[in-house]
Amino acid sequence: MVRVRFAPSPTGYLHIGGGRTALFNWLFARSQNGQFVLRIEDTDQERSKPEFLDEILFSLKWLGFNWDEVYYQSQRFPIYREHAERLLKEGKAYIEKSPSGKEAIIYKVTPQKITMQDLIRGRIEFDAKDIKDQVLIKSDGTPTYNFACVVDDAGMNITHVIRGDDHISNTPKQILIYEALGFKVPDFAHLPLIMGAEGGRLSKRTGATAISDYRKMGYLPEALVNYLLLLSWAPGGDRELIGINEAIKLFDIKNVNKTAATFNLKKLQWVNNQYLKNADPEKLADEVIPMLVEKNLIEIDNFDRNYLVSLVKLFRERLTTVNDFPDWADFFFLKEIQVDPVARDKHLAQDLSKEFSLFIKRRDALEKFEIAEIECAFREVVKELGVEAKVLIHPIRVALTGKTIGPGLFEVIYYLGKERTKERLGRFIKKE
Ligand code: GLU
Repeated sequence: MVRVRFAPSPTGYLHIGGGRTALFNWLFARSQNGQFVLRIEDTDQERSKPEFLDEILFSLKWLGFNWDEVYYQSQRFPIYREHAERLLKEGKAYIEKSPSGKEAIIYKVTPQKITMQDLIRGRIEFDAKDIKDQVLIKSDGTPTYNFACVVDDAGMNITHVIRGDDHISNTPKQILIYEALGFKVPDFAHLPLIMGAEGGRLSKRTGATAISDYRKMGYLPEALVNYLLLLSWAPGGDRELIGINEAIKLFDIKNVNKTAATFNLKKLQWVNNQYLKNADPEKLADEVIPMLVEKNLIEIDNFDRNYLVSLVKLFRERLTTVNDFPDWADFFFLKEIQVDPVARDKHLAQDLSKEFSLFIKRRDALEKFEIAEIECAFREVVKELGVEAKVLIHPIRVALTGKTIGPGLFEVIYYLGKERTKERLGRFIKKE
């Protein structure tokens, strides 16, 4: 049975790189009908913080990576010590005393060649002469990462260790410890590095943002997962959009890219927009409600949900993030809209009293106030005035929404309703 683990240290938030490692482990487990173990590597008691742990657990759940078992290394210190003492007894490790009399347990590296067959990168060779003796238990009594990692991977029956390329130099050290302990060495797969948009490591500026921040910025978890997939695996052909269930069926670890990936925010935004286009309006409405409340655009217990759902449907294909909605759609909720001054100068500088009045008149005469009818009334007005549609479309849009871009104008008019359109256009009609 395939068993993999994701082993974050709660000394920082879960970032794009960690999210990608978690995804590939989870995906591999699910594609093999195996198990996904979560192991919290909280041996560094000073740097491990509950807020990081909470964020990591929350983000993993948000991304949908459910785990089958969870372990905390901080609860397993006696296990590591027991194994270190066994190596001591067998003469494979020795004690080093610090000046203050504290004892560390050190593993003695013997010269040898170490080879491994990486599932992604193929055969890799190391020479143990480049490896110093390894601390197993530090003088403060805590285990080192390399030692706890091996004791746990073996003890938890992990069959495949899938992790970032940055750990490749740890792998030969770990292989030596497996062999010293007499444990079976698991398979390894090292995922290619993720670079920032401008080359080099991911930085805060180039995408090393906490996964939970992407949620706060209005990315959908399905979109982020799809993007993380694309970072290191191609589903085949030019295909870029793939849902997680299909990915589980198609995934083969041998097809993971060997070369470094580059984080590309524009691509992530594109993927997010693709998912928003097809997102369930009811669910999207749930997402935007707290945002609208926070911006005082609606009152939590006094708004028309059906109306909101219609607006979400109207906007969803234009959104890059969910958070765009309150900014783009604010004019539907505000009593007093702010007209963008640049748009006003461009489109409302000349007197359009006659044109606006005629449009209101024709529109008020409509039997049915519906999108198609509103459009008909508009076309008639344009014909009657002998002007091009765009001469009126832009000014009306700016007067109604305060902005130059947005959904179709006739839909905007329909959802704003008769009264509000009349009132907003009326502000630009000079009183005789
Ligand atoms: N705690 C390590 C990390 O967060 C785990 C590395 C591994 O997967 O072995 O980088």
